[in-house]
Amino acid sequence: MKIGVIGGGQLGRMLALAGTPLGMNFAFLDPAPDACAAALGEHLLADYNDLPHLRRLADEVDVVTFEFESVPAETVAFLSQFVPVYPSAEALRIARDRWFEKSLFQQLGIPTPAFADIQTQADLDAAVASIGLPAVLKTRTLGYDGKGQKVLRKAEDVTGAFAELGSVPCILEGFVPFTGEVSLIAVRARDGATRFYPLVHNSHDTGILKLSIASSDHPLQALAEDYVGRVLKQLDYVGVLAFEFFEVDGGLKANEIAPRVHNSGHWTIEGAECSQFENHLRAIAGLPLGATRKVGESAMLNFIGSVPEVGKVIAFEDCHLHHYGKAFKAGRKVGHVTLRSVTRDILDRQIMALETLIDQHA
Ligand code: AMP
Repeated sequence: MKIGVIGGGQLGRMLALAGTPLGMNFAFLDPAPDACAAALGEHLLADYNDLPHLRRLADEVDVVTFEFESVPAETVAFLSQFVPVYPSAEALRIARDRWFEKSLFQQLGIPTPAFADIQTQADLDAAVASIGLPAVLKTRTLGYDGKGQKVLRKAEDVTGAFAELGSVPCILEGFVPFTGEVSLIAVRARDGATRFYPLVHNSHDTGILKLSIASSDHPLQALAEDYVGRVLKQLDYVGVLAFEFFEVDGGLKANEIAPRVHNSGHWTIEGAECSQFENHLRAIAGLPLGATRKVGESAMLNFIGSVPEVGKVIAFEDCHLHHYGKAFKAGRKVGHVTLRSVTRDILDRQIMALETLIDQHA
């Protein structure tokens, strides 16, 4: 079976690494000549709206998927005429736009921060008056890794904030005084079978995910599964979906969804029976899903900007390095490690030691 992937970054690369043992082949459509997934499949060097190349991709593959949600809607619509595309155009339409996704959560009874649609500075002034400060202004689309958003703490921050984010459609959210951030990675098959990985605790640094730790018997696991299950069903979703929540007042508030494999699920490569990458491929290919239970304790640390000396990283006990083969650049995710352990105590010690190595390297 041949899988077409729109985007050829590290997520595409890890999909290919998971699918190759299942006998799958890959083609990546990506305009970047140095797309890091290209080493693992055919590379169609073309823009995301290049119809002749999209047509060629559709003719060559059995199913198409995405490694990012900002794919132009026309691209998805065009491809869907010729080849099955998962997740669906509708799932992407919702997940790429913060207004649509928060409105869906509200419709499904999933708690969210207070939010408002912002089309002008006057809308922002009115929304601040009703939601209050602090609040977070975010572009509705194209935001990632903390980009395209601004925390508004006092009245002076509100003046001109809409222009600062480019005068594009935005959403204002009440600031959530969260005690933690967690994500739930779920997978739904073509026949509706659904599985969930254990909740993951996430820590960010300047908006970029830094550390994910897979939890054991998290008290909010069942609630999170209930919320995510509602979204999967409503969208008749196929593939992996990541759902990010704020932990607050002993409950959950929805932040956002990503209609794809997700950075907070990378630990599943070594830390779960079947990884998020393999399960995404199984789902879109119409194959049975794999077990999502974790094996031991796991944590994932991102390498942002650069990867420390390989020999020093892999000298750590039970440490699995993923070097994406991308050019090093400040603020860019260029690799990660999964740390594995039999107990959480040992895992915590491993994390601290690796963080020290990363700090020394920086
Ligand atoms: P996002 O791109 O929406 O995931 O936001 C990036 C990070 O900003 C989140 O992981 C949070 O740490 C923080 N953040 C986003 N929205 C809010 C909010 N409404 N209240 C508090 N912190 C937020």
